[in-house]
Order: sequence, then C-alpha cells, then structure tokens
Amino acid sequence: MLEQLKEKVFQANLELPKQGLIKYTWGNVSQLDESKQYFVIKPSGVSYDKMQASDMVVCDLSGQVVEGNYRPSSDTPTHAYLYQHVKNIGGICHTHSTYAVGFSQAGLDLLPRGTTHADTFYGAVPCARFLTEAEIQAGYEQNTGKVILETFQKRQISFQDIPGVLLQGHGPFTWGKDAFQAVEQATILEEICKMNFITQSLNPNAEILPQRILDKHYQRKHGKDAYYGQK
Ligand SMILES: [Zn+2]
Repeated sequence: MLEQLKEKVFQANLELPKQGLIKYTWGNVSQLDESKQYFVIKPSGVSYDKMQASDMVVCDLSGQVVEGNYRPSSDTPTHAYLYQHVKNIGGICHTHSTYAVGFSQAGLDLLPRGTTHADTFYGAVPCARFLTEAEIQAGYEQNTGKVILETFQKRQISFQDIPGVLLQGHGPFTWGKDAFQAVEQATILEEICKMNFITQSLNPNAEILPQRILDKHYQRKHGKDAYYGQK
C-alpha cells in the first residue's frame, strides 16, 4: 500500500545525509497520507546506502505498524502524536544536525536575529524542556510529542508560524505540508543556528531583529498578500 508515498518518504530521508544534516542513521522523516489515516516513516537503524523505498514502514496514527518488513524509526510515537494532535501538518523531520543540537544542548531558544530567520520562522524557535523521569518511563517518545505540544500551547505560538522546535539536550524537530518541506525547514533551521552562533560569538550583545522587519519578511512570503517568488 501507499507505494508512491513510500518512494517520496524514501527520497526525503535521503535528503538528510545529502544536506549534511545527519551522520549514520541519526534522523528520520515521515509523511501523512492523503486520507490522514496513515503515515509512512523510515525504518529504524537501516543504513542509508542499503535502504530502499520498499523498506519504508506504514503506521496508523496511534503509531502501530500497518505494513512493513522492518520496525519503524524509534521516534515513530513522536511523529504519530504530532499528526494526531496538530492540524495541517503533513510531514515531520527529526535530525541531530550540529548547530541545532548545539542550541538544544545549551537550552536556548533560537531568537530571530536576521531576515533568513524571518523568511521561515515568525518569531523565536522555542527550546522545549527536558522530560521528567515519569515521562521517560511511561512512553518516552510519545511524551516527547506531548512536550512539543505543551511548549507551543504554553507560549501561545502556532505550528504554522513556527515550523520547528529544539528539544533540550536532544535536537530539532521540524514540520511542513509534506516530507520534503519538513526536510527543507530542518535545513533552514540548521543554517540559522549556525548563523546565530557566529552572530553571538562576534557580539554577545547583538540585537534581536526589530519586529517591523520580522513582520515584513515573514508576511511578504507567508502573509495573505504574499508576493515573494513566482505566481
Ligand atoms: Zn533524536
């Protein structure tokens, strides 16, 4: 089932090493199917040079395997939880890319410091808290999804405006309309983390991007009167 989607998710996963976002198998990408009943995700621990489209695993929204020769990515319950609880996301990507992990380990939100940020993220990308002992014991990966949702609800930010999160002591999750857009957001997030690291190294007191410039750049690309790119 879902052969075309398996091919797409396979190709999106291959983008992770191509974009320099991961080493070994330190990442995973999934995409929801059109019926929104299933999603396709990378198998767990299969090396990228041996992986094939047919190895992708089909799961339902509770994270149970519906079809596949391999076990799905160990982060599958996080993907399932987000597809279940967040409207309008069609693809999810998780990596351990270097600079995004740096911010995650430092426990820092990624603050908007330039227009590269403002073109994709309408405000700070939050760093979500560590999980508690109880949360680790009772479904670590699913509770990771819960902590992401909790972070966005507490801070009153939308998953559309900020298509990514940094998990403290762990790394980034990003999302988009499909698997490829989720990978694109992961690539952009990594690049912005690198830029901000340089910015903060050069000037620890560097200013945050003024709200008016954040508004301008985000809105011209994503607002109701967006005019960036080709019609
Ligand atoms: Zn991870």
